[in-house]
Amino acid sequence: MQRAIENLSGLCIGKYRVREDSPDRFVLSGNRIVAWLGVWAVLVTSGLFFLAAEAAFFGNHGKKTIGIWAIIIGVICFLQVLANFATYTVDGSAKSVTRRNIFRATTWPRERFSAVSLSVAHHNANEILVLALDLGDNKEIVASVSSTSKGTSIVAIAIRMANLLEIPFHRFGQAVQGGAELCEALAQTNTPAGDGDGRDLIINCPACRKKNTPAVAFDLTEKLHGFAHTSSWVRCLSCKADLHSKLRADELRGMSAEMLAVHVRHRLPWIKTTTALFAAILCLFPWVGIIISPIAMIVNWRVRAWTRTLSIIALAISTIVTVIGLIIISN
Ligand SMILES: [Zn+2]
Repeated sequence: MQRAIENLSGLCIGKYRVREDSPDRFVLSGNRIVAWLGVWAVLVTSGLFFLAAEAAFFGNHGKKTIGIWAIIIGVICFLQVLANFATYTVDGSAKSVTRRNIFRATTWPRERFSAVSLSVAHHNANEILVLALDLGDNKEIVASVSSTSKGTSIVAIAIRMANLLEIPFHRFGQAVQGGAELCEALAQTNTPAGDGDGRDLIINCPACRKKNTPAVAFDLTEKLHGFAHTSSWVRCLSCKADLHSKLRADELRGMSAEMLAVHVRHRLPWIKTTTALFAAILCLFPWVGIIISPIAMIVNWRVRAWTRTLSIIALAISTIVTVIGLIIISN
């Protein structure tokens, strides 16, 4: 068993590499050399930029102020590069991956794990694949990637890990958002899929009017000044419209399209209604209308609702009003 585990050393998982940390532990770590090269490239480039800016605008004056700003911008760029380097999972979960995989690194005890598992899960409405080592009752997550981009390679990695460790491979859930290539790769594992997280649904979409179309349920927690508000949504995968749900995502599990129609409503986000209404009111005023109505139209472009019609009409009226205003001024 121990010899098989040692075979994992050097195995690449996405951007990360398995390495031996101590006689009894393995860690998953990023390529630090690449990260530091990126950081230095940004620091040197920004330093040169500020030297050039100083020479051009300030001569020999204001060196101290420029120096302080150079340091501030350098630090911001440094953090930016670090964040980009760590963007391994999809969107919001990148931060936790940064802490776990780069600064502390995931450590795996050698002997306790019993299986390699690959689950189709969700992060908000995005489908992800989670590769984990089962440790008795818990799971140690090794990697989680978007099912659309790196999904296919993570299937091969999971199988290889199971083979090298000589432990069983389990998979859970069906890929819906991942492409045909991923479904094929999952099917070729010849392992029956266990239950998924139940977030995949079939709905009759009130936004695009498609019948029996795939959708995904998710809970969204918004935090502002210490207050947290959780709302539940169902995203139609055909038109990407977010439909408001009165029940939590878990409570929608297993419901039919007809049952879901009772709990799920098409509620336009306030940004769409507000911009459309502002555009409708301000389109009668030259200059102001021509600024707000294109914004309203961009915000509402993909929505099949009254807000889109209203912002198109507002844009037309504001164009006419502004052209008349220009004619009056030029005369
Ligand atoms: Zn739809």
